[in-house]
Amino acid sequence: MSPDLSRRALLTGLGASTLLAPTAFAQTEAKIVIIGGGFGGASAARAAKHLLPRADVTLVDPAEAYTACPFSNLVLSGDRDLAAQSFPHAPLRAHGIRHVRSLAENVDATARTVTLQTGESLSYDRLILSPGIDLRWGALAGYDQAAAERLPHAWKAGPQTDLLRQQLDAMEDGGTVVMSVPAAPYRCPPGPYERASLIAHYLKTQKPRSKLIVLDAKDQFSKMPLFLEAWAEHYPNHLEWRGASDDGRVGRVDADAMTLETDFDKIRADVANVIPPQKAAAIADQAGVTDQTGWCPIDAVTFESTLLPGIHVIGDASIAAPMPKSAFAANLQAKICAIQIARLLSGLAPEPTRLVNTCYSYTTPDEAISIVGAYSTEGGTFQSVEGAGGISPVGADLSVRQAEAAQARDWFAAITHEAFG
Ligand code: FAD
Repeated sequence: MSPDLSRRALLTGLGASTLLAPTAFAQTEAKIVIIGGGFGGASAARAAKHLLPRADVTLVDPAEAYTACPFSNLVLSGDRDLAAQSFPHAPLRAHGIRHVRSLAENVDATARTVTLQTGESLSYDRLILSPGIDLRWGALAGYDQAAAERLPHAWKAGPQTDLLRQQLDAMEDGGTVVMSVPAAPYRCPPGPYERASLIAHYLKTQKPRSKLIVLDAKDQFSKMPLFLEAWAEHYPNHLEWRGASDDGRVGRVDADAMTLETDFDKIRADVANVIPPQKAAAIADQAGVTDQTGWCPIDAVTFESTLLPGIHVIGDASIAAPMPKSAFAANLQAKICAIQIARLLSGLAPEPTRLVNTCYSYTTPDEAISIVGAYSTEGGTFQSVEGAGGISPVGADLSVRQAEAAQARDWFAAITHEAFG
């Protein structure tokens, strides 16, 4: 299905949702605490305060400003400033939301309290967790916090993005960049391949004797035919991708030797970008809402933890597959979660609905491709909606790719305004 057709179908699906019909919510003064001020948390705070203006909505995040990952790959290729990725939390106060600058250290699900690093204790009627991911240090042999200072992951935007950018900048022409990509699930399934495209673009245009080798723990990846097409067209001499069955899975790294080891090979890098395995951020574990996978099982209708009542988990930390871990998904999950909480606090039964996701990826700084998915939540589980969604057409004209790049920019402006504006 073409993206245009699929998007129309999705919009129709959403328009039919009874959830989005105007509903009179009780004017409750309930306490809603949100941990994490990223795409999920900030959007949830905005939506909760909008739906329940008299509720006491508190957002806990230590940062004065959030640094966004989407578009950060353009920072690595030198096409965007890191400063453009920064979104202050201050405007949330104008919407009546209290932003407490602290880490949440402890959740007591029985007492319904959150204890902060500052020592403050917050009580809640409903808690929303959107703390994002943590990296699984040590899950890849040799990769710990110290190693990440030599071999940056740049999978949380900020100083790590800066570090990788500086390393690429400092590398001599003729150097080898090596990227390691983990098995699923991880934050932003197409993100590594967008990054590979943009680093390859940087090498081709700025350091043409250099090369990027992508070592992947998988044989299949998101938007694969479109990425392979773009790489064959733009980067035949600058990007080599090795899948798992081509000895691509990295099992060990050595930060001192600057090497990445697969089953049969040891590759020396001048610059290495190691994207390690991931899990829900530590506070989810502490709260008791993670399972043996390290992620948080939830009811798909309400986003409430299936392990502990009163705690809702959205965004990357949650298990929402087949929905991907994306900013688009976190933002929509936040809004649906806020609606369901408003219903619950108003004595109304939660209702299943449909969710969508669109992920754009740049293949050059001026061209993009996308994937769209639609998901139902009937029965409390996420399921792909048959016949809805799809990917950009293979073999499309440059004008189609350029139009998608423009749509990506519009999407980023819209979602950051909605969450942080
Ligand atoms: P986050 O946005 O990470 O927010 C979590 C917040 O919680 C952070 O501010 C963190 O500091 C805070 N926090 C954590 N623990 C605590 C605690 N104990 N107390 C208080 N605060 C805490 N998605 C897209 O849709 N489109 C894209 O094009 C796209 N591109 C990407 C490119 C890259 C390179 C990467 C890495 C990701 C990309 N993503 C993209 C994915 C997107 O960034 C994430 O899916 C999204 O940020 C998830 O939102 P979240 O709210 O779950 O977590």
